[in-house]
Amino acid sequence: MTKGNDDIARTDVNERDFTDNVVEAYQTYDVLVANIAKSGKDYDMAAIEKAYLFANKAHAGQKRKSGEPYIVHPISVANILVSLGMDTDSVVAALLHDVVEDTPVTLEEIEKTFGSTTAQIIDGLTKLSKLGFNTEEEHQSENVRRMLIATNKDIRVLIIKLADRLNNMRTLSAMYPQKQRTISRETLEVYAPLAHRLGIRPVKEELEDLSLRYLDPIGYNEICERLSAQQADRHAFLEEIKEELREKLIEYNITNAELSGRIKSVHGIYNKMIMQGKSFEDIYDIYAVRIIVDTVTECYAALGVVQTTYTPLPSRFKDYIAMPKSNGYKSLHNTFIRKSDDPNKNAVPFEVQIRTRDMHLTAEYGVAAHWKYKTGMAAEGGNKVFENTVSWIRKMIEDQMDSESADVLDVIKEDIMPEEIYVFTPKGEIKVLPRGATVIDFAYSIHSQVGHRMIGAKIDGRIVPLNTVLHTGNRIEIQTTKEITNGPSRDWLNMAKTSQAKTKIRSWFKNERRAENIEEGKAEFEREMKRAGLIIPDDKFDEFMQEQIRKSHKDSIDDFYAAIGYGAIVITKLMPRLREDYARIVIKPMGLQGIEGNFIEEEHKTFKGDPGVRVEGIDNCQIKMSRCCNPLPGDEIIGFITRGFGVSVHKRSCPNVPEDISKCENPERWIKVYWSESTNYREFKTTLRLFCLNRKGLLADVTTQLSMMHISISMLNSRELKDDNAMITATISVSSKEHLAQITSKLSRISGVLSIE
Ligand code: MN
Repeated sequence: MTKGNDDIARTDVNERDFTDNVVEAYQTYDVLVANIAKSGKDYDMAAIEKAYLFANKAHAGQKRKSGEPYIVHPISVANILVSLGMDTDSVVAALLHDVVEDTPVTLEEIEKTFGSTTAQIIDGLTKLSKLGFNTEEEHQSENVRRMLIATNKDIRVLIIKLADRLNNMRTLSAMYPQKQRTISRETLEVYAPLAHRLGIRPVKEELEDLSLRYLDPIGYNEICERLSAQQADRHAFLEEIKEELREKLIEYNITNAELSGRIKSVHGIYNKMIMQGKSFEDIYDIYAVRIIVDTVTECYAALGVVQTTYTPLPSRFKDYIAMPKSNGYKSLHNTFIRKSDDPNKNAVPFEVQIRTRDMHLTAEYGVAAHWKYKTGMAAEGGNKVFENTVSWIRKMIEDQMDSESADVLDVIKEDIMPEEIYVFTPKGEIKVLPRGATVIDFAYSIHSQVGHRMIGAKIDGRIVPLNTVLHTGNRIEIQTTKEITNGPSRDWLNMAKTSQAKTKIRSWFKNERRAENIEEGKAEFEREMKRAGLIIPDDKFDEFMQEQIRKSHKDSIDDFYAAIGYGAIVITKLMPRLREDYARIVIKPMGLQGIEGNFIEEEHKTFKGDPGVRVEGIDNCQIKMSRCCNPLPGDEIIGFITRGFGVSVHKRSCPNVPEDISKCENPERWIKVYWSESTNYREFKTTLRLFCLNRKGLLADVTTQLSMMHISISMLNSRELKDDNAMITATISVSSKEHLAQITSKLSRISGVLSIE
């Protein structure tokens, strides 16, 4: 297995000298040949040499701004692609990428000499290089849109373009300062987010760091100086942690773990310091230790081990395995504190990132893993990211066809941007709002009277609709009237992002418009009930509504409706309770058959393939485990023949099953079902909730116990409750009811575990 990909960057991030000037070694064809040999990958050397000779001849006599012969640039781009593990076609195209653009050679000649695949990639790249530099947002978006269209035929176009840009950024010092800034801004706003979306982390980070060097040299150098001042300490610190953890992991039988230390990128630190106003010491993930293990179960077990070793910060646990990022990134993240032996020194926070080898390859190479590995798990992971990316590009292009093109950048930037935005009042006062905040949020953040009286708004001098999403740097001017004429509109509740604005809008409606609220609320309630198929007969109406008034802590039915009207009660959130009450008050007395269609059916989850249940007298029918009682092998069960959904399986003891079937409405629809023999080998997912007394190492003990019992965990979450209590939620795979009982009994013996649901 290849170790990391630090050869993409010039040096290991951990060892990087942050004060050094970025000068790339002069790269000749020999260097490319040597790197290819070192990669161990099979390349068609004849094709590559042919491309080199062709390009060398075409660019003969041309020089770069730095004075080097032009051919050095395509060779460097080809080198980056080799380090990413890209294929022969990509390397050939990289060598030829500027030939059509900058020399008399035509695309037809390329096609004749190198074939249609290469010609198509070169064509895409040539079109991209014609996109001009322009920093206005609409133009950027238009560039991205055209880039995606050019990429749609072959995603390698975009990967080669990123490598091209990376080399240009590495050699940017030869350009005029004005040009440096323009190119850097475009890199930061367009290319780095694209590299992020493709999941190619080292390229994304280097593009960001290099852009920052030119856009804010003072800020960049300040961070570099801090980092290099601490370089020796930092190195020693990470080495110690790695040593301690390595020993511990072996002690807990995780023998195959790979550990590495890592420093947050300069741009990442910059974002937190300068954009979010944090001090260097307040950034908890400057230091990170990565643990790479074999399986998902080992990931959680390793997390447990780290938690017994250091003090975890519970609010800083992130499970990207259960909930991967949009670019396919998976890992467990948790921040820890290690107390220093020296009482004069502060405890140092650091982040631990835990992942499997496959997750690691996806995290580092993203879509490029598709070309790097031809077989095995890594190739599968790469293919999945590849397919996701391709379909994402298709979708982006489609979406862009019929809407404003300004959106495409927002979508790409979505998970790269900080959570907060910084905007300005006309007087230059700064306001911090969450990402996605609109003009309405801004108006209410100034004063509720500004919000209520707002009739229009300008961003940077241009009139905009009130639902316009704000961006960092916007200067917003709110136009108001002296008297409240219309007041806020109900739609504003949907357009506002902050709870502050929503609360103020609601309270306005609450106070000003009671009659209207009641009417609106009643209409909405009736509409939603009807949509959910919950029709209340007249004789049950009072009982049902009294229940709602009581549960919502209201005094009358008008108060209940009014609360819906001004938005304090969100009816969709109330739906589970309404269904429950409906089942109890309206359905129960009618017998089960009335539930069918709008109650039980929705509570089913479909099992793919054979769920391990046999139906008496019927072969191969569709079977679903009902979600109301979640039967497990070993439970006494019964089937119900649904209309069009096959047979649903309930526990015999489920409240939705009539106690005496012979006396119920449709006895013929209840049918005998059995667990089939093979169910012993089958696994069912179930979620456990553990209420615990919080203590250090608790989560560790739980995960260790589960991993010792060879239980696979598909999701794990812990959070602190009041009074030193904690709740751990774990979704695990179990094979039977007995198995589940065994697990809960083992877990309940762990000290601190109070109860298990
Ligand atoms: Mn180029």
